[in-house]
Amino acid sequence: MGSFKSYKCEKCGYEYDDYEGTGRGHAEKYNEILESMKSGKLGDKPAKFFKDNPEGIIDISCQSMKCLACGRYESVERMTMLSYIDDRAKRNCRRTVSRYYKDWSDIEFFTKDYVRSSFTRYFIEREYFDHKCSECGGVLMRFDDFNNATCPKCGHKLIENGGGLWD
Ligand SMILES: [Zn+2]
Ligand SMILES: [Zn+2]
Repeated sequence: MGSFKSYKCEKCGYEYDDYEGTGRGHAEKYNEILESMKSGKLGDKPAKFFKDNPEGIIDISCQSMKCLACGRYESVERMTMLSYIDDRAKRNCRRTVSRYYKDWSDIEFFTKDYVRSSFTRYFIEREYFDHKCSECGGVLMRFDDFNNATCPKCGHKLIENGGGLWD
């Protein structure tokens, strides 16, 4: 389950929802995204990563980004590429995980929020996916500082405007 917070510009009415975590739909999405990355459909960087790290995994939890070119916010799946820290981490990870799941390759594993905490115990982030703005094609950067966010349309400060859980 993920959560979101809504932000609003009181001057022009612009609104943005900052999504975090994963939803149920991500279990199916996981393999879809993984295949696209492996096949090169999403560029050379992911394809090379999975060629070098066949057991690599991806973090597909949601993340807000900000476009360096047009200033708009966009919620994307991180698609950060991770691999085992070392062989010891690999053995320990399999041992721990088998207690919860019969099938190691079960896609659910990577989307359960409580198991996500084990990312840092067994895996290390190796490559970031180069996200592009879906409107102008500009470079997207991670953005978390919504307490100091400004409206991409008029430059006014954004204020928090509720929130909730999704999925
Ligand atoms: Zn505004
Ligand atoms: Zn843009």
